[in-house]
Amino acid sequence: MQQSRASADAAPDRVQQLTENLQAVHRRIDAAMAETDRTTRPELIVITKNFPASDVEALAGLGVRDVGENKDQEASAKSADIQGRNDLRWHFVGQLQSNKAKSVVRYAHWVHSVDRLKLVRALDRAAGEHRETGGPVVQCLIQVDLRDPIPQDSRGGAAPEQVPALAEAIAAAEHLRLAGVMAVAPLGQPARPAFERLAEISQQLTAQYPGATAISAGMSHDLEEAVACGATHLRVGRDVLGARSYDR
Ligand SMILES: *Cc1c(COP(=O)(O)O)cnc(C)c1O
Repeated sequence: MQQSRASADAAPDRVQQLTENLQAVHRRIDAAMAETDRTTRPELIVITKNFPASDVEALAGLGVRDVGENKDQEASAKSADIQGRNDLRWHFVGQLQSNKAKSVVRYAHWVHSVDRLKLVRALDRAAGEHRETGGPVVQCLIQVDLRDPIPQDSRGGAAPEQVPALAEAIAAAEHLRLAGVMAVAPLGQPARPAFERLAEISQQLTAQYPGATAISAGMSHDLEEAVACGATHLRVGRDVLGARSYDR
C-alpha cells in the first residue's frame, strides 16, 4: 500500500479539505487587508507541526511555498522525507537550543526564534559550516517576549530591551541575515496591543537596520489583528491543517 511510504500521497479528501481551509484563510487575510491601507499582502507560512510529510507535499501541490515547524527532530525528519521539493522554504519557529543549531540550519532557511547571544553564535557557526557545502545564509528573526512583566519561565523570546544587542550580533554575523522580529501574543490577553508593541519595536529596529523589515506575528486565532498591525509573515497551523493531536 502507498500509505506505508514515508511520504505517501495524501488522500483525495484530505487534499480537498486542505484546499478549502487554505482558501478560507486566504479570504480572512484579504478581508483583514481590506480594513487597512496596506498594499503589501503578508506571506502565509503554514505551520505543519504534528502533521505528516504527506500533508506538506499536498500543501506544496496547492501552491504553498512556506512551511514552519517548531521541533527540530520532527522538522528534520519531515524535510528529509520530501527533499525532492526544493521549492519549499522551511521556517523554524520553536524554542531552539544551541546544540540543535547545526541540525536546524540543514533544512531551515528562516529561524524565527533567535532570542539569545549564545544562539546567535551557534547559528552563525552552523550556517558557516553548512555554507561550505552550498547552504544559504540563514534569515534570522529576533523573537520578542511581549509579556509584561516577563515571568521567570522558559517560553522563549528576548525582553524588548535586549533587541538592540541581539540585532547588532546578528547583523555582524557573517552567515546570518537580520530579517526582523517575531512574537507570539501573550496567552489570555488581547492580541492587538501586543502586536502594536511589536510594530513599535520593529520600527526602532528598521531605523537602524533598514533591511530588517519582517514582522512575524499572527496565528490561526489572531491573524486579523496581526494584519492590522503590519505583520509581514503570518504563521497559521490549525486553521489550515485542523486540530493537532498531542497524544503520540
Ligand atoms: C504552532 C505555532 C503556530 C501556529 O499556531 P496555530 O494556532 O496552529 O495557528 C504559530 N507560531 C508558533 C511559534 C507555533 O508554535
